[in-house]
Amino acid sequence: MGDTVTGKKKGYFGQYGGQYVPDKVKKALNQVSDFYERFKDDAQFRTELEYYLKDYSGRPTPLYYAKSLSDYLGGAKIYLKREDLNHLGAHKLNNVLGQILLAKRMGKTRIIAETGAGQHGTATAAAAAKFGMRCEIYMGAKDIERQKLNVFRMNLLGAKVNSVSEGTATLKEAVDAALADFAENLDDTFYVVGSAVGPDPYPTMVKDFQSVISKELKQQVLDQGNRLPDAVVACVGGGSNAIGAFAHFLDDKGVRLIGAEAAGKGVDTPENAATLTNGSVGVAHGMKSYFLQDDQGKLKPAYSISAGLDYPGVGPEHSLLKDVKRAEYYAITDQEALDAFTLLSKKEGIIPALESSHAVAQAIKMAPQMESDQIIIVNLSGRGDKDVEDVGKILNFKI
Ligand SMILES: *Cc1c(COP(=O)(O)O)cnc(C)c1O
Repeated sequence: MGDTVTGKKKGYFGQYGGQYVPDKVKKALNQVSDFYERFKDDAQFRTELEYYLKDYSGRPTPLYYAKSLSDYLGGAKIYLKREDLNHLGAHKLNNVLGQILLAKRMGKTRIIAETGAGQHGTATAAAAAKFGMRCEIYMGAKDIERQKLNVFRMNLLGAKVNSVSEGTATLKEAVDAALADFAENLDDTFYVVGSAVGPDPYPTMVKDFQSVISKELKQQVLDQGNRLPDAVVACVGGGSNAIGAFAHFLDDKGVRLIGAEAAGKGVDTPENAATLTNGSVGVAHGMKSYFLQDDQGKLKPAYSISAGLDYPGVGPEHSLLKDVKRAEYYAITDQEALDAFTLLSKKEGIIPALESSHAVAQAIKMAPQMESDQIIIVNLSGRGDKDVEDVGKILNFKI
């Protein structure tokens, strides 16, 4: 699957990736790596994963021709890969199910995860509940304050939410706390990482579990028109839904792969999360990749209207895909995302997540420049119900 530009050296994507962690954490990671290698092609493991993806999460997700939107814009046909129709309303469960089933194979009984806005924490708590595993979620104190509803959801699903008050008290410190817990509790604990980031083997493993998106997608688009799409567009936070949507097209050089990152209030302002547009190469969160950082390599706070894109780093494979120009990355502002959020709602009756609205906005820019027999696929990573209240306030909606 797309190994022509990636995966030459285990755990590396060109110069990116690796395992930049203390030896104690390496031991834990290597155990995960050993089991992943053992089970990734195991027929029983795959059958079990497919079963839960289907009957628990509701896969396969449809590939839907957004005709009203396409007609309105003129130009290319826009199709939506409906990851918003997964259980819990986003692509996150694809990865969580894979990792939890692996944890079960390893005999682990306790699950930990980091979460920023609470989306990954909620998906992990749900799957841990389903499989009867203890679950603890690390979350920055500031994020807990901002995302009370998701904290309640995790509690309802039986997870304990640990508040992390060090430093900026957000996702960065939550990741550090989860890695420290993982190193200390290797015997019974598995760390479910939420995006295609972090030390090896996580970026490879998360790509594998999310690549179900492009596996289905490729077949669906061929079935519908017997040709490959001209472009696949996905939003990029850590990069898991994007790498999942790109994976099975990496070798199809005629298919443009396009990532939409968050320009926030503008790439020329301090308030953005456009890591691949504005960042530089460095090491953090156990990996070498692009980061928004100062001259000393200290991470800068990222900003986006969408909590899921609000991350100052990016998965290492995206850094390579950018360098070798196999994928293109563009930055979409808060305002452009809001306009896309509204337009898709009005034209198709589908309210996208603010994260996914960045990908929709990118397609809205591209479609009119293209021909009517061309195809753009937007990976609609999640549904927007979670964002409706915030957007209503921003748009000054009055009942
Ligand atoms: C978490 C999230 C994202 C960002 O994460 P990636 O790892 O970049 O995919 C995007 N969309 C939705 C709906 C999310 O919940």
